Amino acid sequence: MVIERTLAIIKPDAVGGGVSGEILARIHKAGFRIVAIKSLRLTKAEAEGFYAVHRSRPFFADLTTFMSSGKVVVMVLEAENAIARWRDIMGATDPAKAAPGTIRREFGSSIQNNCTHGSDAPDTATFEIGYFFPGVDLI
Ligand code: ATP
Ligand code: MG
Repeated sequence: MVIERTLAIIKPDAVGGGVSGEILARIHKAGFRIVAIKSLRLTKAEAEGFYAVHRSRPFFADLTTFMSSGKVVVMVLEAENAIARWRDIMGATDPAKAAPGTIRREFGSSIQNNCTHGSDAPDTATFEIGYFFPGVDLI
């Protein structure tokens, strides 16, 4: 088992819907250490930079408009197998297909408005952590 870090985001639908606290409580209960956390509203350009890997997908314009529509909470989470574990706790991308008890199943409302983000691999986690916490000594 290796200690990993992943980037998690509580998306604008969840912040606006008042469920950030519940999601943070689940993060604590699952045993993650919150290495860094901040709340901000992304510009459209910042959302486009973050999701650049999806720029040719049909949902890119709507996704980046959504991600810049309100405040988000961005965190670096640390745990054994943090990347896969956070994705398990979030559930499948589409809340309708997510397993019962997962965050997206309980709080997501559509495949786009699915309340949380999680890095999907070590290299994307490194990119995403640096995107939001550049030059920050994360201890
Ligand atoms: P995330 O990267 O946000 O953790 P994910 O890895 O489960 O989610 P991706 O395929 O990376 O899913 O898609 C990124 C985000 O784009 C999704 O979380 C969702 O908000 C949005 N999205 C994905 N597929 C669709 C779709 N078919 N229609 C609309 N929005 C979508
Ligand atoms: Mg993804």
